[in-house]
Amino acid sequence: MTVDTAPPRMRIVRHPLKYRLLEVRRVTRVTPGTVRVTLGGAALEGFCEQAPTDHVKLCFARPGEELPVEPVVENDTWMDAPVEPITRDYTVRHYRRAEQELDIDMVLHGTGVGSGWAAAAEPGMRLGVFGPRGSEEIPFVHDWYLLAAEETALPALGRWLEMLPAGVKVLAFAEVPGPEDEQTFETATDLRMTWLHRGAAPAGSTDLLERAVRAAEFPEGMGFAWVAGEATTLKPIRRHLRRERGLGKEQVDVDGYWKRGVENHDHHEDDHEHA
Ligand SMILES: Cc1cc2nc3c(=O)[nH]c(=O)nc-3n(C[C@H](O)[C@H](O)[C@H](O)COP(=O)(O)OP(=O)(O)OC[C@H]3O[C@@H](n4cnc5c(N)ncnc54)[C@H](O)[C@@H]3O)c2cc1C
Repeated sequence: MTVDTAPPRMRIVRHPLKYRLLEVRRVTRVTPGTVRVTLGGAALEGFCEQAPTDHVKLCFARPGEELPVEPVVENDTWMDAPVEPITRDYTVRHYRRAEQELDIDMVLHGTGVGSGWAAAAEPGMRLGVFGPRGSEEIPFVHDWYLLAAEETALPALGRWLEMLPAGVKVLAFAEVPGPEDEQTFETATDLRMTWLHRGAAPAGSTDLLERAVRAAEFPEGMGFAWVAGEATTLKPIRRHLRRERGLGKEQVDVDGYWKRGVENHDHHEDDHEHA
């Protein structure tokens, strides 16, 4: 029997803000449209990661320069500086402490500093890694989880599936171009995974995730929904979960990872809603 209690709140655990210059050790293809960059170096000493959505700011070199501009940190705070680093947010796919290695899965979407860098990445190149600033910790006490994502959020979806407790019910929906873009994730959860193919439609232009979430039959008990991807397409999903499904604020984490037509979209700006 499920006991109906108030949903637990998400807690942000802060980590010391640190910039690290790392070297590319390996570049592999996860799928035709996603590159896994393995970064390594002794600078990874003390690196913190603990929650599914943990992410860093990758710092890229300016055109014509070899190394990224280093962010200025004073009293554990990122300060304004005359020359700012060029940064983009990416999920920590794997961190292997013993090997001093970090895997970042980067989508090759066409235009953009991050996508362009990933397309050209090769061993020996150097990249700045800033953070993680903190971890969004959600006590894993829910009866079920709904996870919905497109490619940029598949690294985090993979972490969710790896970290959630054995046997917990998970409904997962993932939008990708086609079958060749599907990924396999290790999980001990009771997972029902649905892949949605958008074909030739541009990323961030479909309502495939929304329709799948609307049609889903949610399990009994207290659930938690995490949805991430293109910001505009997520808004109706958030509304549906909160208003039509009646999930409380603490039960929904919707995070716009990027926005069509916007360079370096700030996910804290208007799209990230949770407790
Ligand atoms: C918390 C968090 C975690 C993230 N984790 C990852 C991750 O692990 N892997 C990953 O690949 N991305 C991840 N992203 C998304 C990534 O930060 C954005 O896609 C970012 O815009 C990429 O930078 P860029 O320099 O390639 O493109 P930008 O310079 O930011 O944008 C250039 C143009 O490309 C468009 N664009 C951006 N991303 C996409 C896309 N995926 N498909 C189509 N068009 C796009 C923009 O709308 C813009 O028009 C994450 C974002 C957040 C907030």
